Amino acid sequence: MSGKSDMKLIDGGVRLDGRKPDELREIRMKVGVLDNAQGSAYLEWGNNKVLAGVYGPREMHPKRLQNPTEATVRVTYNMAPFSVDDRKRPGPDRRSVEISKICSEALTSVVQTHMYPNAAIDVFVEILQADAGTRCAGLTAASIALADAGIPMKDLVASCAAGKIGEEVVVDLMKEEDNYGEADVPLAIVPRTGDVVLLQMDGKLSEEEFNKAFDLAYEGCMKVYEIQKKALSEVQK
Ligand code: UDP
Repeated sequence: MSGKSDMKLIDGGVRLDGRKPDELREIRMKVGVLDNAQGSAYLEWGNNKVLAGVYGPREMHPKRLQNPTEATVRVTYNMAPFSVDDRKRPGPDRRSVEISKICSEALTSVVQTHMYPNAAIDVFVEILQADAGTRCAGLTAASIALADAGIPMKDLVASCAAGKIGEEVVVDLMKEEDNYGEADVPLAIVPRTGDVVLLQMDGKLSEEEFNKAFDLAYEGCMKVYEIQKKALSEVQK
């Protein structure tokens, strides 16, 4: 998010990949793709490719982390070494720890955790190919993987980002836009209630621009929600 490039990211309302400012990349989702997980999902979002697997509810180990009144939703977000242009060093780093934490918090707000005291619900999000927006894609995939696992939830979590490239506020930034744009605002909501369960901002926006970015991201989340529901209705096991 340097905002300092001479690269023209938008010209006459047309973005580098031909999209309009309010247009999402193509999104495809499929649930029930892993035999050895209780629930799973595979998602393609533009050039992002994401796999999510859910294990549990199962007894929380180590036991000292058990919560006697609620289950703990633990998300592990991991980028494969081959997921980005420059090989990513394997293993956790500050970024993956942060994304795991925000995804855990967002999903905890919809899972009926009180039904499973002392349990862990482990969600693994593997980024196989990254092109910006992977936290939104990961959260979206994790949410339908939880539903595929039959874990009681108040609703799904749907996620989408918006941001600013050049002088324009646009939805769903891809990598060049993320790297050389002015700002990125990832959002996740609980569509049924409109509750915001993730909101971050990288870069600078005026209040007016922020409001516009929020509205675009919110609309994006609602579109993502429709695709999530469709994927869940098409489950074949
Ligand atoms: N990225 C990368 N190497 C890294 C981390 C990120 O190439 O070690 C790229 C990747 O394409 C990622 C993008 O930068 O999707 C934006 O990363 P950011 O931290 O903004 O998170 P994201 O937008 O993926 O949620």
